[in-house]
Amino acid sequence: MGGLSCAPSTPSEMVTPAQITLTTPSPFPPGTLTEIPSSDSYTEVRQRMVEQQLRGRDITNEVVLGAMSEVPRHKFVPADYLSSAYSDYPLPIGFGQTISQPYIVAVMTELADVQPGEKVLEIGTGSGYQAAILAQLTDSVYTIEIIPELAQRAQDTFKQLGYKQITAKQADGYGGWEEYAPFEAIIVTAAPDHVPQPLVNQLADGGKMVIPIGPPGGYQSLWLLERQGDEVIRTNWGGVRFVPLTRSE
Ligand code: SAH
Repeated sequence: MGGLSCAPSTPSEMVTPAQITLTTPSPFPPGTLTEIPSSDSYTEVRQRMVEQQLRGRDITNEVVLGAMSEVPRHKFVPADYLSSAYSDYPLPIGFGQTISQPYIVAVMTELADVQPGEKVLEIGTGSGYQAAILAQLTDSVYTIEIIPELAQRAQDTFKQLGYKQITAKQADGYGGWEEYAPFEAIIVTAAPDHVPQPLVNQLADGGKMVIPIGPPGGYQSLWLLERQGDEVIRTNWGGVRFVPLTRSE
């Protein structure tokens, strides 16, 4: 697992892994765009992202690769970062938060292994991009964001792009979303220092949770938890870096 993800850093601190070389520069230099162009103008750069950053590493699930080729990531990044919308690193989305690096979104989606019709919960809506990827895989996506402005902005984006399969709310996601539980998959995109018990309780039998766990501000481990009856089987997928899971007072 090579990539950083939802890192609480500024773009200048982010590093593009050396093995990834974009053969063609982005057609959209910084600061030259004042409005979001149609998704068509991004099809080629998005496809290059899929081939080089995802398939070129270790993402093999065609459904996940297909979802990442479809979703217009540039609609989820702030206007100032349009030229980097498909770059190999996380981007700031305001309020000290970030949209995860594409590769990490793909890894987490692949691990969650969401099948059509399954119910999936995301904690940490952020820009809404991860939820939109999940919405390509199933028609029941639930997502929770703690920062009101980000929650509202993501809901506006879902509406604008017609994502009716996504149900979103502003809340502290530590407690999950009891009303819609159990979930076949839960993806947590902010890092707690322990597994929130309510999320384990809301995981369906046979369900999978993908969650970074570790101290805030440093690196965490990305865990896959699989619930089998009363047992939870844990697999460590290596080092990642996410913003901390915060708690409401
Ligand atoms: N999945 C997002 C990236 C999220 S960054 C995307 O695709 O863009 C992590 C997000 O988790 C931030 O927006 C942060 O505000 C949110 N977050 C942190 N703690 C949270 C909590 N307790 N409940 C819900 N969201 C939380």
